[in-house]
Amino acid sequence: MPPFDLPSSNWPTLQPGWVWLCGAGPGDPGLLTLHALNALRQADVVIYDALVQEAILDWAPQAQLIYAGKRGGKPSAVQRDISLQLVDLARAGKRVLRLKGGDPFVFGRGGEEAQTLVQHGVPVRIIPGISAGIGGLAYAGIPVTHRDVNQSVTFVTGHDQSGDAPSSLDWKAIAAGSQVIVIYMGMKHIARIASELLAAGRAPSEPCAVVTSATTPDQSVLETTLGTIVDDIANAGLQPPSIICVGRSVLMRQVLDWQGVADGHAPRNLDPLGRGRPAESA
Ligand code: SAH
Repeated sequence: MPPFDLPSSNWPTLQPGWVWLCGAGPGDPGLLTLHALNALRQADVVIYDALVQEAILDWAPQAQLIYAGKRGGKPSAVQRDISLQLVDLARAGKRVLRLKGGDPFVFGRGGEEAQTLVQHGVPVRIIPGISAGIGGLAYAGIPVTHRDVNQSVTFVTGHDQSGDAPSSLDWKAIAAGSQVIVIYMGMKHIARIASELLAAGRAPSEPCAVVTSATTPDQSVLETTLGTIVDDIANAGLQPPSIICVGRSVLMRQVLDWQGVADGHAPRNLDPLGRGRPAESA
């Protein structure tokens, strides 16, 4: 058990027959919510996904652990099995914790699982988590919004249910309407995505970052541009999971690479957006 207790509060009880659908955050166990920790301590069964770090499961030593890993848009029959397994466990009177990477309702099929449970009369609680597209970028020193860069951000998935590049996405509209684009599951189809964005008028020089295994000890950050991203990913031999960020907010890493600074590197540029005035000024 971790060397600290939950602060006193009216913590909810995970009752037998319930399923709590919970985000585990992007990786670093410290990015769990307190509700997630409370759930881990009470669960009889934890059903977890591929992206949930093993260290997090150590916080539920009393629980039976069931791996429900599934990567890269593979068959939906497996998803059906997982949802129905949750129903069965709840009906057997277990206290069930369904633990998913990041936030359960962000590209995680949490909505479908929760719907299945409700349709089968199983009571659920939803515990949000820090999504990789926000928290993972923060660990790379990239603010997902910045007043001088973007007033909106678009989160997209790099592949659809069949595993192909998503055909329903209007890349022209996204390219025109969103200064910053955050792509989940983007590595496989990055060539197609980059060429769509370039064809829609985004500049080849546009800053991009690829953050792999964000917030874990294996985190890596590649800074590149839209014109060179495909070759750079290949040359670096990057492996998923990754978050790809397209937009000028990536430049902020030059001043906000806080992990680099902790490792003794000086910030590369104190004013990467070229504001020409202190950040605290209006
Ligand atoms: N529900 C999750 C996303 C699930 S989809 C969330 O909110 O974060 C799985 C995709 O999320 C991966 O393919 C990858 O694009 C992204 N992802 C999840 N964890 C990640 C991590 N630690 N580092 C980089 N990308 C991650």
